[in-house]
Amino acid sequence: MKPASATKTKSSAESGRKPAAKDNRKKAAAKIARGPKQAPTDPKRVRTILDRLAKHYPNAVCALHHSSAWELMVATILSAQCTDVRVNMVTPALFRRFPTAQAMTKASQAEVEEIIRTTGFFRNKAKNILGAAQRVVSEFGGKVPQTIEELLTIPGVARKTANVVLGSWFKVGVGVVVDTHVMRITQRLELTKASTPEKIEQDMMKIIPQKGWIDFSHRMIHFGREICIARKPRCADCFLEDVCNSKDKTWSTH
Ligand code: SF4
Repeated sequence: MKPASATKTKSSAESGRKPAAKDNRKKAAAKIARGPKQAPTDPKRVRTILDRLAKHYPNAVCALHHSSAWELMVATILSAQCTDVRVNMVTPALFRRFPTAQAMTKASQAEVEEIIRTTGFFRNKAKNILGAAQRVVSEFGGKVPQTIEELLTIPGVARKTANVVLGSWFKVGVGVVVDTHVMRITQRLELTKASTPEKIEQDMMKIIPQKGWIDFSHRMIHFGREICIARKPRCADCFLEDVCNSKDKTWSTH
């Protein structure tokens, strides 16, 4: 084995090259190794991300337990600032006692609050659920409407809830569900520079084919729970690591 000193490269003074030139050569070599830089929203890159999500989560569906559009709407209202697991713990009792919008109109604020207390922000959520029941019964004959315009007139229903109900129950993809997982991951993957759910949704609708809108959110949400988690993403186990340049990465091959 050669002595350590023999393996050293020549200093810039010895080689006659300037240090800056050496740095540039290193950068150029690294660039060749990575291949040409792709724009973050390059259709090929987006396709790669969508295909890999589909491969890993082919059957991803909404994790909120429900058996009707009304139940899904209520569960989604309850899921704000709360985990789906927690929501699924309180909804069986709530739906048993008040199974329909019509039944919910007979509930008192205190009764609903008592059942949903552990989901957080329970006063406001109870108020919204009661308001939603009143509106669904008085304006839509007790049936949850199937258009985003009508859904958005219901208390407690913003675009996320409307998209969840339309996509998961009615199988109508007119928007992209942007929850906390979708928001974080689309930013990490540089699919958007926006910081509000509304703007991120608009950005996703531009780069993802409409037929993939419903599945995209379900898959992203599963990916966000299992791999690209908020605090310490599991980058060493991530199937998108080679196309991810997030500053949040905990491990990197490039
Ligand atoms: S490499 Fe890390 S930060 Fe990037 S998508 Fe995967 S888990 Fe998330």
